[in-house]
Amino acid sequence: MLIPCLACESRFGPDEYFSACSDYNRGLDLVSWTCPHCGNRDDLRVLPDELGFGYPHRGRFDVHARVRVPGLRRHRGDLRLDISLDRASWHVSTPLRPVGVPVRLTAGGGSARRRRPAL
Ligand SMILES: [Zn+2]
Repeated sequence: MLIPCLACESRFGPDEYFSACSDYNRGLDLVSWTCPHCGNRDDLRVLPDELGFGYPHRGRFDVHARVRVPGLRRHRGDLRLDISLDRASWHVSTPLRPVGVPVRLTAGGGSARRRRPAL
């Protein structure tokens, strides 16, 4: 099973491919992947039996392309994603935020204060 880079179409074995994953984003459920060959950076979601490629959009991750990887499994942890395929497994950590930078939790967005419509 070889997994292609969608930019340069190089193909990688699972170990080389998943070792290039980084920065698990639990909120959007995606990992970053940097192609060892061309340096292209993609966001992808690890799904059962497939990888989903797409773009973060309005606080969600929209999957636009899927690559079948039969046997692919994932387990979501608090600060990491465990990926397994056949008997191998990889761990992708969530990057720790720099100290002193507050985590912004924005739900829904918009101001709490409503403005009256202008008459
Ligand atoms: Zn590439």
